[in-house]
Amino acid sequence: MSNPRNDTSLFLDGSTVHDVVIIGTGFSGLAMGTQLKRRGNEDFIILERANEVGGTWRDNTYPGAACDQPSHMYSYSFRLNPDWSSIFSEQPEILDYLKATAEEEDLLPHVRFNANVDIATWDADTRTWVIQTSRGVVRGKVLVSAAGLLSEPRLPEIPGLGDFKGDVFHSARWDAGADLAGKRAGVVGTGASGIQIVPRIAPELEKLFVFQRTPHWVTPRGDYQYSEVEKRMYRRNPDRLQELRTSMFWENEERFAQRAAIPVLLAKAEQVALALLEEQVPDPELRARLTPDYAIGCKRILKSSDFYPALMRDNVDLVAEGISHIEADAVIGKNGGRYELDVLVLATGFEATEPPIAAHIVGTGGRTLAERWSGGAEAYQTTSVSGFPNLFLIGGPNTGIGHNSQVYMFEAQIEHIMGVLDLMRARGIAAVEVAREAEHAFIEEMEKKAATTVWLTGGCQTWYIDQRNGRLTTLWPDYSHSFQEQIPRVFEDSYMPV
Ligand code: NAP
Repeated sequence: MSNPRNDTSLFLDGSTVHDVVIIGTGFSGLAMGTQLKRRGNEDFIILERANEVGGTWRDNTYPGAACDQPSHMYSYSFRLNPDWSSIFSEQPEILDYLKATAEEEDLLPHVRFNANVDIATWDADTRTWVIQTSRGVVRGKVLVSAAGLLSEPRLPEIPGLGDFKGDVFHSARWDAGADLAGKRAGVVGTGASGIQIVPRIAPELEKLFVFQRTPHWVTPRGDYQYSEVEKRMYRRNPDRLQELRTSMFWENEERFAQRAAIPVLLAKAEQVALALLEEQVPDPELRARLTPDYAIGCKRILKSSDFYPALMRDNVDLVAEGISHIEADAVIGKNGGRYELDVLVLATGFEATEPPIAAHIVGTGGRTLAERWSGGAEAYQTTSVSGFPNLFLIGGPNTGIGHNSQVYMFEAQIEHIMGVLDLMRARGIAAVEVAREAEHAFIEEMEKKAATTVWLTGGCQTWYIDQRNGRLTTLWPDYSHSFQEQIPRVFEDSYMPV
């Protein structure tokens, strides 16, 4: 039998109208499929542009890739896993968990691999979404975009980048064939990805230059390997596992209070980070270059116990003065330094404020979601956008969370979508659209909540803020539990039949 993952033939002819079409097989797309299935709806397909499930955990294969949220929490509430090997599991283990979900929840027959969404258009006459993919056309009554919050790499606009003659790749597109042994490499970026890569690759390199633009606050990452005895206990006693998950969740929730910019909590968190810096970096001059000048929490607080020690290695240099330009064989610093390299790794983040999928979704009146969002991304209950009937977004505007598990957010959004689908079924409505007033009110509430948070007051530049309007459009500006309480609710008068 042929492997569906290798099949690229054109077989989607648009003749069938599915109940639901989902874009993406990452954490959120697989959860959406599972919930449909568990609630008795088999009439859905999942479009996946790659030939494997897993989303960001399939794509981020860089050395050291791991989740900085505890795995017992960064996993589905409906699929607890007693076998996580450690508190912060690495990428292969998380990908295996997602693959097992796809298989054990019997989602694979619903997945169309190698089906990139070219354009999805709302057809008002038939009240369906017509989705043109690289494998043909598919139609759905409802479209759910689970295309990912951080799926499109952002390449830095550094003069001369295209002239570099060595290997160059983004952290989320790691070149598995690149042999780093004995080479001279540069890593641009010291965010969550960069600080995981640096300690892992440093030992095999002849020389590593770490190009830091802004120092990040780093706190210790106390990891721990679960023993076989503990795993067995969790297997036999799922209540204990649930208790562990719950306690981790509430421990993390306390951290939102810092992001609310309460001075005493910020000071306490800064002390923890500064103590790590002091302990691990004895050189005061290097310490100064690694010390942020903005409030902690303004950028994602990083967790690492091996990033600073990696910088202390003889073969690793921190370049903190900025990059002037790039030449065929070197990065030139603003300090005039010439850093000769064989390999350049761009750990420079993702297109978050302007998600690329938005240019491929066309709503009423032929307007794309990107055009609708030209002043900044926004969505009612983080999930629906006026002008886009029967479209639901998972992981869209205001769904990012730095202090707790992203998976909780996706699950709450799925509950919202399920609620709207139930409403449509109960009322015999073929299509709904969110009322503009409800959308406005929700966005105003987001702005009000965001205004006093450290993300807007902390004095840093991040991808959390949309440069076009200065608003916090990617993050949820509140506790994670408030998202869980608020987002699943469906207020009937917020959705109008169309
Ligand atoms: P990021 O946090 O956006 O960091 C990008 C880094 O690249 C920053 O240090 C940034 O400097 C630097 N940079 C960007 N453009 C540059 C330029 N033109 N010149 C020089 N430096 C430049 O990206 P990321 O590290 O990939 O992380 C993104 C998000 O992915 C995280 O916030 C997190 O949500 C997620 N993530 C999670 C994990 C996990 O463990 N769960 C791991 C990795 C990533 P500035 O700070 O000056 O902008």
